Amino acid sequence: MASVLSPAGRIDLGHGCHAWVPDTAGWGMSNAGLVTGRGESLLVDTLYDLHLTRALLDGLAPVTDAAPVSTVVNTHGNGDHWFGNQLVAHAEIIAARGSLTDMRQVGPAEMRALTSADTAAGRFARRIFGRFDYSGVQPVLPHRVFDGETVLDIGGTEVRLIDVGPAHSAGDTIVHVPRARTVYTGDIVFAGSTPVIWHGPFANWLTACDLLLSLDMDIIVPGHGPVTTKEAVRTVRDYLSYVHEQATARFSAGMPAEAAGRDISLGRFADLDESERLAVNVHTVYRELDPSLPPLDGPRLFGRMADLACPCPGL
Ligand SMILES: [Zn+2]
Repeated sequence: MASVLSPAGRIDLGHGCHAWVPDTAGWGMSNAGLVTGRGESLLVDTLYDLHLTRALLDGLAPVTDAAPVSTVVNTHGNGDHWFGNQLVAHAEIIAARGSLTDMRQVGPAEMRALTSADTAAGRFARRIFGRFDYSGVQPVLPHRVFDGETVLDIGGTEVRLIDVGPAHSAGDTIVHVPRARTVYTGDIVFAGSTPVIWHGPFANWLTACDLLLSLDMDIIVPGHGPVTTKEAVRTVRDYLSYVHEQATARFSAGMPAEAAGRDISLGRFADLDESERLAVNVHTVYRELDPSLPPLDGPRLFGRMADLACPCPGL
């Protein structure tokens, strides 16, 4: 997959909707969005550090000068979608209840610890997250949480928030703007890179894909990757189904999860970026099949991905 995406920056999607897409791909390089109404705007997600979020806010300024950000939605609780919240703390910040749980578990302090650890996981984390600067990031949590679904009125524009999680994470909100036939999916859709299922169950994510495919809309702003269409949803759905099937077969054969991650051939999904996420995805399948398996914390999951990304000593 190409590591440089085009176009980048602020993209006008029409009907008051915009996407913000970084000019490089890779771990943590997430998208954001803006939905404008009369005199106010809704920001979908902040970015992984304060530099990136300032650049986002500067890039949106030609629009937000006339329609300031009054509301922020964090699509989920991974830091690349909320670590910039302190720069928009004047607005009302909303998230699904499960997302708040994730934010409390892994905030900037945990990421600083992970990326400074003298372990294989730490070295891998520095390699993939070294471009971000977590210093100065204050964990500003949502002011309001919701369950299930809620509808916002942003200066006369209807915006539907639907929590389709737990799936990718403990709470996964999609932001549907019916008038613009547009959905901001957060990390329910990865375009061009490998989906990662930190939480599960798989069934919820597949159901979320079906919901997206059933909506009367054309434009998808994924959590990562270029602005896309329902085709990307089908790829995510197919990848998750394939990995679930492959991992289940190896679980049934008695193969340990780490060996299964090395054994599975990704076939037509092999060209998706960040294929090492397979290690996390296999672990999640195994835990679904045997709930007595202990969960792995972040450092251990990154250790498994480090092993899959580069099974060489001294990474
Ligand atoms: Zn993300």
